[in-house]
Amino acid sequence: MNKPKIAVHKFSSCDGCQLAIFNLGESLLILSQLVEITHFAEAGALDEEATVDIAIVEGSVSTSEDVARLQKIRDNSNYLMTVGACATSGGIQALRNMANTGQWIAEIYANPAVIDSLDNSTAIKNHVKVDLELWGCPISQRQLLMAIRALLFGVMPVEEHDKVCMECKRQQTVCVMVTKNEACMGPVTRTGCGALCPRVGRDCYGCYGPAENVNTQAMANRLQGLGLVNDEVARRFLFINSGADQFYLQGQRWKT
Ligand code: SF4
Ligand code: SF4
Repeated sequence: MNKPKIAVHKFSSCDGCQLAIFNLGESLLILSQLVEITHFAEAGALDEEATVDIAIVEGSVSTSEDVARLQKIRDNSNYLMTVGACATSGGIQALRNMANTGQWIAEIYANPAVIDSLDNSTAIKNHVKVDLELWGCPISQRQLLMAIRALLFGVMPVEEHDKVCMECKRQQTVCVMVTKNEACMGPVTRTGCGALCPRVGRDCYGCYGPAENVNTQAMANRLQGLGLVNDEVARRFLFINSGADQFYLQGQRWKT
């Protein structure tokens, strides 16, 4: 019997989400017996043009070559799933969308003329149809395995878009905003990480992107009430998921 085929593709990213796949450990070994991994350059499999059941895409689009490669991946896959903040909302590299890209390139590279880069770094969904998005920086391995399993059975995984706050309550984690006045983004951030940061006593910085029905205005007012100046409030929103509309719009309101 033919095994389902899966490919892992990389665009502009730090590779952290691919490492999260590597770090599945024994689960990855089991997965590799159940499916054929046709392309996963970091793991050694190299067949980028193979037709697959699921294309897993990490990273954002930064060059015109990326756009053409991505279209081919879409054409060759049944489902396309983005993994991580880079692929899903542009990631940390989308911060340059709010800056003068040409000036940055000139300041960083000795020979700027050889840099062939688009003006903006954009999420995968800005270019092709995306069937499923996994947020996070990096992604949750639990969510990844659940998603692959569901897609291989032909059903769409149930999306988790509760707020991190809800996860803290479920786990009886003490609120870092209430008890320590930390500028925690948990009230507007989707869970999936299991409230990783508050569980160790630190604030959430929003790496899983906006949750469902968020009130970013109230969040911003609360951050200001905690003593953050306008630019600091803006930076809480304009960070790893600055490309997500809800965070981008609120961040822009506070940017000076
Ligand atoms: S989402 Fe985070 S961990 Fe994943 S590739 Fe991007 S920067 Fe790295
Ligand atoms: S608590 Fe927030 S910053 Fe920490 S891992 Fe979860 S979503 Fe990311």
